[in-house]
Amino acid sequence: MTIKNLFLNPPIKEKVSIKGWVKTFRANRFISVNDGSSLQSIQCVVDYDNTAEVILNKINTGASIKVNGTLVESQGKGQSIEIQVEKIEILGECDPELYPIQPKKHSLEFLRENAHLRARTSTFSSIFRIRSSISFAIHKYFKENGFFYINTPIVTGSDAEGAGEMFKVTTLDINKAEVNDNNEIDFSKDFFGKETNLTVSGQLEAENMAMGLGKVYTFGPTFRAENSNTSRHLAEFWMIEPEMAFYDLSDNMNLAEHFIKSVLDYIVKDCKEDLYFLNQRLINEDKSKPAQERNELNLLERLDFVINNDFVRITYSEAYEILKNSKPNKKKKFKFPISDWGVDLQSEHERYLVEKHFKKPVIIFDYPAKIKAFYMRMNEDGKTVKAMDILFPGIGEIVGGSQREERLDILKSRIKELKIDEKELWWYLDLRKFGTVEHSGFGLGLERLILFATGMTNIRDVIPFPRTPKNAEF
Ligand code: ATP
Ligand code: MN
Repeated sequence: MTIKNLFLNPPIKEKVSIKGWVKTFRANRFISVNDGSSLQSIQCVVDYDNTAEVILNKINTGASIKVNGTLVESQGKGQSIEIQVEKIEILGECDPELYPIQPKKHSLEFLRENAHLRARTSTFSSIFRIRSSISFAIHKYFKENGFFYINTPIVTGSDAEGAGEMFKVTTLDINKAEVNDNNEIDFSKDFFGKETNLTVSGQLEAENMAMGLGKVYTFGPTFRAENSNTSRHLAEFWMIEPEMAFYDLSDNMNLAEHFIKSVLDYIVKDCKEDLYFLNQRLINEDKSKPAQERNELNLLERLDFVINNDFVRITYSEAYEILKNSKPNKKKKFKFPISDWGVDLQSEHERYLVEKHFKKPVIIFDYPAKIKAFYMRMNEDGKTVKAMDILFPGIGEIVGGSQREERLDILKSRIKELKIDEKELWWYLDLRKFGTVEHSGFGLGLERLILFATGMTNIRDVIPFPRTPKNAEF
């Protein structure tokens, strides 16, 4: 039986058998055992006099054990039920001198260095159970709303996606690669006969699928080789990219907002215990901070607030005016001052809008064309495009999306302006030749949503084995 099920439906006075890892062993009598099925550990009470010394000596934190016994209502405080042990088996010993995860509070940095063992801690097992629940909620949402799950290639031959620096994929021996007349590596000799990379986005392919299936989404690994060592960037992350035929920008924003709220609402109900635990963890952490650094709302209140309040929607131009006239801008507190219309918004600006000005998630739309990608639909003003970013407190950008340019001539001239090779995108342009329609989509970074859902602050703590610059351990 899993320990979760023992607590859900306790078979009092019956024989039970569980397997798990020892969290603590107190007074040679009380073993706390966890099997990962939930946050809860079961207390197993050992009959000290009738248990062999060799066994008792091996009941150490981290050891895996099998326990047979009778489930009873607990005599002691702190737990409702416990197992009176009749037989105990050591499945895998654990040397207490060597085991890094001691029954005490470890720093998140230390646990990152021991990422192979951190799923044994309450904090990380909670985070990863929530991660699993979010992934399920995402599929559930799309299934219930008429979307089809599609998979786009991880190895991509187009370098025109433009979403970020890419990782090369090659079978060439880079020490011996043949070069052409320009002294460039000859990729025609490579596995695919052309230069290939790991995908930075499945969007272009998803657009093609939406033009036959109507509403689709991708949910897969995404790679960015940018050297941004921040608490919000991974080199390998998971992105959800819905793409919808016949959707304009406002349909797109409505979907994104409803989607995020529905997923958060699902986990608030499905992960009560884990969220409550993480909430307490943050409340305790806050207590040791100076008053002005403490969170105004606790984690559960923040989730509740986002689920039950409309996101603010403003144009880039409105956001620009607010920022330009803001106190930190006038007092030159921004690292990147807001000067002329058209400047790209940095994370400090996004967070000012969300955390200080509106105190709510904000959707900014109609961005200047020159700071956005070639495929975004040009507005009548000829200066802005139908882009939208969703900004979240504590995180900044969580979603980036747009209505796509469906007009062949305009798309072609944008491609030309940006000096992208049109031939690379022949299949993408074909969509605009054969039954083109208005369509839209967006990309949501899974890990950024998990950051918000768990109250964690470093993206390395919400993916089991993070890939970041200079780090591909495990
Ligand atoms: P940022 O400006 O934060 O670097 P971006 O504008 O490059 O992000 P998009 O190309 O719009 O990101 O990707 C869509 C979404 O994917 C983002 O809103 C974010 O949630 C997520 N995302 C992008 N890059 C990363 C990354 N390196 N690590 C984790 N998530 C990411
Ligand atoms: Mn973006």
